[in-house]
Amino acid sequence: MDRRASRRWGWRMENGNVTQILIVEDEPGISSFIAKGLKAAGYASTAVTTGEAALTLAVAGDFQLMVLDIGLPDIDGFSVLRRLRATGSTMPVIILTARSSVDDTVAGLEGGADDYMPKPFRFDELLARIRLRLRTDSGGQDATVLTHGDLSLDLRTRYATVGDEEVELSAREFSLLETFLSHPGQVLSREQLLDRAWGYDFDPGSNIVDVYVRYLRKKVGAERIVTVYGMGYRLVAVAK
Ligand code: CA
Repeated sequence: MDRRASRRWGWRMENGNVTQILIVEDEPGISSFIAKGLKAAGYASTAVTTGEAALTLAVAGDFQLMVLDIGLPDIDGFSVLRRLRATGSTMPVIILTARSSVDDTVAGLEGGADDYMPKPFRFDELLARIRLRLRTDSGGQDATVLTHGDLSLDLRTRYATVGDEEVELSAREFSLLETFLSHPGQVLSREQLLDRAWGYDFDPGSNIVDVYVRYLRKKVGAERIVTVYGMGYRLVAVAK
């Protein structure tokens, strides 16, 4: 199984609030596509390529959701799902299937899947389903609005609210603010911000983060994003 991913993203796993997602997919291109997207969206993930490895981790590990391919080299995704449910696990499972036929979908849902995603898919479609499942699983709590002090961000409409005022953000400003709001009060380095909001590997020569922090400050108020000299930036609460 591939544990490199979890080591590489270790800083995020140190945070107890980070959602861990298990990716079960034997096609490296699809697996890394999902992992990269999840990373940019602020989730930690571990990827495995076989059904047996998936079961071992799902039963033993601390995962909040599984993205499960049907066609795996050892046991198929339906067997993984049946065996997982037989252990009493209620972990949300989203099935990935190239076979988009009704029969397969029904079999998957009857076998205990919470949702399915026919391949090929766009990442934002999968992300929407993941967010929905995580929200439903956490008791219907409205996790689509992130709030800190008088600042809030609606993940569905992508509007920020500052006090009583609604602010429109560009896609990049949205990602940056979502990253800050996912780690309120925590100092985030330029590298972490670039990694989370852009999904790029860090280019030490780039000042793109500083540029976008400046844009974001103009929209949400400079006092809310504090420069921590030599370390990065921190989102601070301004009381309502
Ligand atoms: Ca496959």
